Amino acid sequence: MIKNVAVIGAGTMGNGIAHVFAQFGYNVSLIDISDDSLARGMKTIEKNLDRMVSKEKISDQDKQDTLARLKTFTDVKTGVQDVDLVVEAATENIDLKLKIFKQLDEITSENVILATNTSSISITKIASVTNRPDKVIGMHFMNPVPVMKLVEIIRGYSTSDEVTNTIMEASKSLKKVPVEVNDYPGFVANRILMPMINEAIISLHEGVAGVEEIDTVMKLGMAHPMGPLQLADFIGLDVCLAILEVLHSGLGNPKYAPCPLLVNMVTAGKKGVKSGEGFYDWTHGTKQLVVADNFKK
Ligand code: NAD
Repeated sequence: MIKNVAVIGAGTMGNGIAHVFAQFGYNVSLIDISDDSLARGMKTIEKNLDRMVSKEKISDQDKQDTLARLKTFTDVKTGVQDVDLVVEAATENIDLKLKIFKQLDEITSENVILATNTSSISITKIASVTNRPDKVIGMHFMNPVPVMKLVEIIRGYSTSDEVTNTIMEASKSLKKVPVEVNDYPGFVANRILMPMINEAIISLHEGVAGVEEIDTVMKLGMAHPMGPLQLADFIGLDVCLAILEVLHSGLGNPKYAPCPLLVNMVTAGKKGVKSGEGFYDWTHGTKQLVVADNFKK
């Protein structure tokens, strides 16, 4: 029975994951390496709760109760004391995740379930640095976490049925819909989504059409709520690149090679919404087209 949850990383995904667990009655420790990240994460949670109150989805009392169940920590050892489940949502970097899981394995009691929100890194690989591969599992939430219904539940090679069932039930308790998949590069969500985003970037790079045209075709023609380039800005271009690199190396097929324009943009620090600019300029709070010439280099 899960009651106390630690979330590692207070960025785009971590603060959303902490938010939903706290909203549905779990005590949550939100852990990050800097006080600044934690303060930003808590500010986002408060803003999102305020929006839910103003839309009458929750009461003001629900908001206060949710905030009261959240604690922040920069020291991971203190943060994971007495938890039943850890959900790791730190930066998408394999070396970092292996280091975090090795440490979590050492500092948490052997029954604690260790989940990762990774978009693409092998659960089996992450589990291999622990002494409890049966208790390591992928719990892949979608962005924005408080809104999106899906949780992709990824079974590593050794993940037990019992742990899978516990995490399926925990996801349902957050009013999410969990879907069980096996551990192969990109799982299901990103194996299908990322080649589409990459193809949109290749189309832009080759001059097939501009940013707005590509997004409009996919929005109005395929009934997508937003175009693939705007979605890439929301996900983070660095995250998209990291996932494509995992698909490319993990599946060994050149069709997954990231578009050179994406590589250039990430190298230049254009990461989408979180850096202020990607395919759109986000610095004014709304999306504005970036000069088309930027994409021809
Ligand atoms: P982000 O860059 O917004 O946040 C990452 C956070 O991790 C930062 O606050 C950083 O300070 C923190 N961090 C780094 N090292 C840490 C450590 N050792 N201990 C604690 N905190 C640490 O990234 P994000 O977009 O929230 O992605 C987090 C994870 O979620 C990644 O694995 C990513 O692939 C996955 N994911 C992202 C999305 C998305 O749309 N962005 C969707 C699904 C899954």
